Amino acid sequence: MAKRNVIKVGETLLRKKCKPVKDFDEDLWELLDDMKETMHANDGMGLAGPQVGVLRRLAIVEVNNMFLELINPQIIHSEGDWVEEEGCLSVGNFRGRVSRPYKITVTSCDRMGEPFTLQCEGWLARCICHELDHLDGVLFIDKTLDKEKYLKNGGKI
Ligand code: ZN
Repeated sequence: MAKRNVIKVGETLLRKKCKPVKDFDEDLWELLDDMKETMHANDGMGLAGPQVGVLRRLAIVEVNNMFLELINPQIIHSEGDWVEEEGCLSVGNFRGRVSRPYKITVTSCDRMGEPFTLQCEGWLARCICHELDHLDGVLFIDKTLDKEKYLKNGGKI
């Protein structure tokens, strides 16, 4: 395993739409292992492909010791509305309030290419929504209710 460099806001790679993962092979597994190490080294709750320069639809999340690898994930149902502060390893120290669904159902593949469906709520759901946004080039600073404050403090978009 090796730690990877986390790409910061301002770089165009973070704004691209990712392509689906096609090969569930050793390269993918190595990437996922590296991402886990990188997330832990940075005290993150999640990390998406584009944040380590890989424009593929994959992400990892870890909330309350529940670790998940999401390959080609899709949110198929969401309900509720919940505002809470978020941060992002690609954004630095700024934290801002974002409205997210409270409860989601997500379909995804695991690292072997096996599909699964997960229902979750609260922080795990929030974290998954945040990471899935990354796969479409969307950052939480685009959605935050505190965008004005972010921009006023010189935040990049
Ligand atoms: Zn993020």
